[in-house]
Formats: sequence, structure tokens, C-alpha cells
Amino acid sequence: MKRQSEVKDNQHSAEAPMYVYSFQEGDGKNKALLGGKGANLCEMTQIGLNVPPGFIITTQACAGFLAAPDKGLPVGLMDQVRSHIASLEQATGKGFGAKDNPLLVSVRSGAAISMPGMMDTILNLGLNRETLDGLALQTGNQRFALDSYRRFIQLFGKIALDVPDDRFDEKFEAVKKRVDAVADVDLKATHLKEVCELFLAVVQEHTGRPFPYDAYEQLEIAIQAVFNSWMGKRAVDYRREFQIGEDIASGTAVNVVSMVFGNRGDDSGTGVAFTRNPGTGENEFYGEYLVNAQGEDVVAGIRTPKAVQEMAKEMPEMYRQLEALRSKLESHYHEVQDFEFTIEKGVLYCLQTRAARMNAAAMVRTSVEMEREGLIDKERALLRVEPELLEQLLYPRIDPGFSGKPAAHGIAASPGAASGRIVFDADTAEAQGRLGDKVILVREETKPEDIHGFFAAQGILTSRGGKTSHAAVVARGMGKPCVAGAEGISVDARARTAFVGDHVLHEGETITIDGSTGAVYLGEVPTVEPDFSGELENLLAWADQTARLKVMTNADTTQDANRALKYGAMGIGLCRTERMFNASERLPIVVEMILAETPEERQSALDRLLPIQRADFKELFQVMSPRPVTVRLLDPPIHEFLPTEQELVDEIDHLRHLRGTVQEMVGLSDTVKLLDPEHPDESVDSLEKLQHILKKLREGRIDEKLIAQKETILRKVRALREINPMLGHRGVRLAITYPEIYRMQIQAILEAAAECVKEGIKVHPEIMVPQVCTSKELEFVEPFVVDVHRKTERTYGVKIPFQFGTMIEVVRACMRSDKLAQIAQFFSFGTNDLSQATFSFSREDAENKFLPLYNQIGILRDNPFEVLDVEGMGRLMAITVEWGRKTRPDLVVGICGEQGGHPESIRFCHHIGLDYVSCSAPRIPIARLAAARAKLLENEYHFD
Ligand code: PEP
Ligand code: MG
Repeated sequence: MKRQSEVKDNQHSAEAPMYVYSFQEGDGKNKALLGGKGANLCEMTQIGLNVPPGFIITTQACAGFLAAPDKGLPVGLMDQVRSHIASLEQATGKGFGAKDNPLLVSVRSGAAISMPGMMDTILNLGLNRETLDGLALQTGNQRFALDSYRRFIQLFGKIALDVPDDRFDEKFEAVKKRVDAVADVDLKATHLKEVCELFLAVVQEHTGRPFPYDAYEQLEIAIQAVFNSWMGKRAVDYRREFQIGEDIASGTAVNVVSMVFGNRGDDSGTGVAFTRNPGTGENEFYGEYLVNAQGEDVVAGIRTPKAVQEMAKEMPEMYRQLEALRSKLESHYHEVQDFEFTIEKGVLYCLQTRAARMNAAAMVRTSVEMEREGLIDKERALLRVEPELLEQLLYPRIDPGFSGKPAAHGIAASPGAASGRIVFDADTAEAQGRLGDKVILVREETKPEDIHGFFAAQGILTSRGGKTSHAAVVARGMGKPCVAGAEGISVDARARTAFVGDHVLHEGETITIDGSTGAVYLGEVPTVEPDFSGELENLLAWADQTARLKVMTNADTTQDANRALKYGAMGIGLCRTERMFNASERLPIVVEMILAETPEERQSALDRLLPIQRADFKELFQVMSPRPVTVRLLDPPIHEFLPTEQELVDEIDHLRHLRGTVQEMVGLSDTVKLLDPEHPDESVDSLEKLQHILKKLREGRIDEKLIAQKETILRKVRALREINPMLGHRGVRLAITYPEIYRMQIQAILEAAAECVKEGIKVHPEIMVPQVCTSKELEFVEPFVVDVHRKTERTYGVKIPFQFGTMIEVVRACMRSDKLAQIAQFFSFGTNDLSQATFSFSREDAENKFLPLYNQIGILRDNPFEVLDVEGMGRLMAITVEWGRKTRPDLVVGICGEQGGHPESIRFCHHIGLDYVSCSAPRIPIARLAAARAKLLENEYHFD
């Protein structure tokens, strides 16, 4: 037995299926059948907008045409077209192909989704020598009629008849040249008439046939051309590139719309408008129009359009209708619209409408205001703003009006733009910064001990490293602009110069960096300041009410923490304690701790670090109270706190050289006397004074001691050298070798918490162990925590709440998460290291060596250090969460790697049931909005 639908199809084929729908008939939601544009025109017509009458030939007709062996139009199609043209004639009072009052139409393609590469629009179809005169009469403008005709012949010739464009252009330019016309508008009617004749001859010559005269013949050829364009190379390539299969779009529809003219006198006109101001979002009518003009006049820029408000005086009735159209559009589409209109002899037509593209400030403002006006609900208000768009509102930007060229390009490592004088080391940055100078720290790459330079600088530029290099991560954490890996710049810090090609940059010269694009400019470039508006606060408050994921911050200092709170951080998800060790008064103690030869010596240094760390943590807890603060115990390889081998070798060389110079200078006055015994003068006196100072220096053996000290450090640096430090002696592995370091940190955390509790400050410290690969490591550290906790509670006489957990950044930790969860109360995915471990890509090298090429040729779609690799690492993460929670159902799980601030990655984190994401302060608003979206769209998320 045949299924119902088959019976129906057969019935249709007997009568020819319905291939053509008028705008009144078509289903505005059926984009698959009518194409996006066609469906939209139907919807506009059916909600009562005055759209010029027209009809749509379906995508089904296209499929039939392309499948037919003879490539003929489906049987019955042209009959349906003719009957729809008849309806257009009736509706417009014009005649298709008629000499008097001719009906002209536009013909354009339109698939289910917007798809460049298919056929361009043919305008003014129906023109021939006779109807041309009719158009001239209709519009009272012979020049316009001729101009429309020559455009039609060229467009039709090119698109429907495959005549190469340059064949027309040659003729056109020749006429222009002969009559001395600079622009097209300089051509008079007689010249255009000549051009039309020449164009008709071009077509005849190229096709071997006269230009089709009959309007129906023109229409039939145009329909076939639209259908054929579906299989044109550009369209096919586009579909392949963007993987648009038959299920998404199969064939194109053809839209045939009657032409209306805005140049039919002072009661006609044309314009473009937005229902609200797209620059600010303000609820004001915004747009421009021209009286007695066609759209082309606006484009050609011959006449200056007027603001729509002027129409209130010039054409009051039309303005009233336009205002009504504006509110109808918003109340129907529930979205700010960008629309085109034409007025033909006092009749207002809406030709097109679409959602307006707006900047971030305008999107946020309209979201909040449209919700208040009852036009949209909170859900829509949140969903219509792309989280990444908020970046525009959070950082200074290069003035959009600036058009200068960058001198070099690097990786856009931390957004925002900044100008300042070049400095080549952190100390100079600090010194100049103190004087109030704006500086840009320019280094080959940065190291932890450069941190004070970061504080002082407006921005950081490095010639090496990528998005997760030290410079990038630290700058992002501080919200400072950073361009990393600008390989076109070579930095010679010793000579205090940098080269950009042949150009030499000296210390003190001004440059501007744009960390949002990676551009580096010479000199100062104007910037515009960010704007964290009340509306944004409002929108983000809705986001927090909606989201399930909490948004924490990665912050190491109270300065970072305060900024993060301003952006709405709900706690600290990662405090990297090593950053606290780098301040200039602390580093020597840390170095002493590293150089210690015995546990006692080490303990002595740690005893001095303890109160410093305790004070750090206390300040942080106070600022964040009552929110949780996750403190990560020391993570980097300890040699990172020491100078490099090369620096030490250079310093020792320099000191030795100095020693020789001092030695020679000690005998300098004797030498002078010896050489010139006749003239002992004051210079010998001053030399003797200097000699005295130098002698004392030598007796004190200060140089020897300094050299010996540096040599000790050099030996230690050599001893600590690792081939692959990122996979070396770091994180919890340090604690196994030097337990007293972690002990001191744990004590500092718990004592700081105890002091806060005593002062009535609510605290939630969370102690986190990095680089764990086995539960045995946690078993090793846990007793310190238990022991210190017990003692501290006893000493302070208070209860100290705390959590003990681990980072998950080693693949083995993922596979052993059930075991780890027996001890850890929380997990935090360190996806910087975990990505490195998953791919076996060194994050220091990958980004400016091979990753860009991987992305460019499509081996990897994204940079896994920025966008969470859902397909690979995502599986590891999902398993980790699942197994961890089997052991401990209330296990809290978060993410604190860089991907924690990336919207699509956040969506995945929501999907696998994480409790929070943690990111640098300026990403927080983006993450809050992304967390709300993840919740709202959770049912649409698929991942395999
Ligand atoms: C991580 O590995 O994701 C992480 C947050 O730690 P770090 O970047 O400090 O190694
Ligand atoms: Mg890590």
C-alpha cells in the first residue's frame, strides 16, 4: 500500500506541483522551500508591510530543473509564472512588456541560508526599446530610463548570457573618454543611448543572437540562470568549504519582485533606516533618505542624504507612515531592524528588513531597554548578545578612525591598546613608571622576575612566545595589553635597541601596541577608553541568575582581586603563589631558600617567608570575603627564581674585568708621577683619594666575595638545569623533595585564615596541589595539612574552615580521578598543562612554530591552548568528572586554565557538569554571559 505522502506527490505531478508562491501565499517559516529571502518577503507581506508585489519560484523547482537530463524548466512552471505575472500586473496597474506604463521586475536567487557565490540580482527586467520609452514617460526622466537600460543589458548579459564583463566595460570607458566624462554621472542621455546600442551589439557579437527582446523570454532565461548558478563553481566551493549539505540547503529559490521607483517626482524617494541608533542603542529613529532618487544615487554619493527626522517637515504623511513601519517592525520581529524603503508617488514600500548589526554598547543597551519595554524577555536579552562582543567594552581600543599601518605584527596575546616609551628591562620600567612615565616593556621574552616591570608598564611586547607564554598569561591576568611573539622585531636588550626590519628603535622612543590584533605601531596612536555601563551590569546580573556555572577569577594580588570583584568574580579559582615570591624584597629570601645546603638553612629562609606569605593571604582573604579563595601551592621549577646561566656568566666576567681595572687603578697616581715627575698637580691628589677608596675595597675583598657568591649561584643553576623543565621538578614533586616549602605555605594559608576568623571575617580557603599524577602524592601532602590545621586551630582557638583539593593537569590524574577523589574534596582542571600533555605540544613552542600552520591548513581547527579541545581532551575531562564523582558525589570541579574564559569552552564545561570556571578579571563579564547562554541552550548542545 502506498504511503499517504506518495499518493499526494503523484497527484501533484499529474497537475504539476505548486512551483510558484505569491508573497501572500508562501509560508514565512519555510526557508527550505522558499529560501531565506523569499520566506522573509512572505512574512513581511503577511504581517501587513507594504512590500512591492512579487512571487517565489521554489527550491523544489530548482532541484527538478537540475535533475532533468535536458536541463529544461519543469513542465508547467512557466504557466504558473505567467499567471503570477498577471497578478502582479493587476496589483500594480502596469503591464509586463507593455509599452505604456511597463511593469519591470527584479530577479534574484535565495537559498535556505544566506550563501555568497550564487547569482547577483538582475534589476529592471522587462526593458527593451519600447518599454524603455514607457519607463522614461513613467518616471519623467529619460536619462534615468537609459541608465537603467544600460545597467540591465550589462547585468543580464553578464549573469544570464555569460558575456564577460570587460567587454561592456571597454565600450563604456571608450565613450566616457571620448566625451571627457570623469564619472558615470557626467554622461548625458545621448551618451547613454549610444552606450545601450553598443552593449546590445556586444551581446549580439558574443552570443551570436540579438539581445532577448520579449519580457517573458528574458524572464525565462533569468530563471534558468539562477537555477544554474546553484551549481556554479563559486557556490559549490562555498558549500564544500562550509559543509553545507543537502539537508541544510538543496537548490535555490528565485525571487521575482516588481520594481518600484523612488525617482518619480517630489512625492517619491528612497532611504535606509534603523529602528534604533546602531551606534549607541538609543531608542531613536535613525536613518537617511533622498527625495526623488533611486538607491543608486545614495550609493554613488552624488547627493547628500538627509536625516529621516527631516521627513517630518518635508513629507509629514510619509514620515507618519514610516514611524508606524518602524514600530511595526520592532513589535513583530522583537529585534532592532535595519530596513530599506522606497516611496513611489506617495506610496511607501518596505523592500527589505533584517536584524541590525550593532556594536557591543548598542547590543547591551538595546537588550536591557527592549526587555524593560516588554519587547523581549530576559532569555532573549541574554541570547542576542554574543559574549565575545563584550570584549569591546572592557579594554581601551585603537581609535576606529585611525588608519595608519602597523610596523610589525605579533600574536594578540592580551587585549587592549596602549602607547608608551620603550624600555628594555623591568627595573627601568619600574624606575620610569615611578616618575609617572608611560612605558612599554619590550623583551625577547619575559620571566617571573620581570613582574615588577609588568606592574609599571602600560603594556608588554615580546619577540618570542605565544598566547600562553609567561608574558601573555601574566599580562592577561593583570588586564594589560600584550603582543607576544612579534618575530619581525629583534630585541637587543644589551644595546638597548630593537630592530623592525631596517628601522632601529631606541629606548625612550614611543610605540603603540594593540593586544587585540597583535599590531605594533611606531609612535603614539589615539585610543578610546572602555565603558562598563549600568546596562552591562544589569544584563550580567540577569546572566548570574540564569547560569548554573559560577565564574571565579585567576588572581594573585589584592589589586587583581579588587578588579575581578568589580567585574563580578564570585571567588578566586586560582591564586598562583609563586607570583608573590617575585616581589623585589622577597626574591633574595627565595634565592637563599633555594641555595640552602641543609634543611636548617632552608628552614631559616622559610621562617622569614612565612610572615610575608601569611600577610599576603590575609589581605587576599579580606578582599574576597566571604567568597572562596583557592590557593595553589608552589608550582614552577625553582630555578625560575634564579638568574639564567648566561646572565650569571656575564656578570662574573664583568666582575672579574672590574677587579683587573681596580687593580690597575690602584697604581694610577704612581704611574702619572712616574711619567710626568715635573708636574704633580691636583689631578694626582684626586687620584690618590680614589686610590685610597679602591684600596679599601680591595682589602675588604668585596669583589672576591661577590664573585664567589655569583659562582655559587651559577653552580646551583647548573645543578638545577633541566632538559625539559615544564615536565620536570615542579609542583607537588618539589614538595616530595622539599616538604618544608609546602609546609610553610600551608601554615601561612591556615594562619591567615585563623587571623581573619578571629577578626570576624568570613573565609573559605581552599588548598590546591599542582601537577599531581597519583593519589600517593596527595597522601604525602595531606598529613601536613591535617597537622598544621590541628595546631593552628589550637594556637588560635578558632575553627578554620578549609578544603583540600588537586589540580588536574596530568593525563594520569584524569585516569585515576576515582582514587584522587578519595582524598581531594575538589578538582580544578589546569587545562594549560593538560592541553600540553594531551597533545604532547610544548605550549611555549607550539604557538609560534607549527600551530598557526596547523590551523591554516585545517589540521586543527583551533588553537587548543585557547579553545578547549572538546573532541580529545574533552573526553578526558568528562571521564575525570564522572569517575571522580562516583567516589565523591559532592566533588566540586572547576577549570582554571586559559580556556576557562572562552565562551564555547565554557559551554562544554557546563555540559560535563563543572561547578565553576575561573578566568582572568577582564574575561569575567564574557564568562558570565557565556555561562548563562550555556544554561539557556543546554538542550541544543551535542558533543560526541
Ligand atoms: C594550567 O596548567 O592550566 C594552570 C592554570 O597552571 P599554570 O598555567 O600556572 O601552569
Ligand atoms: Mg599548570
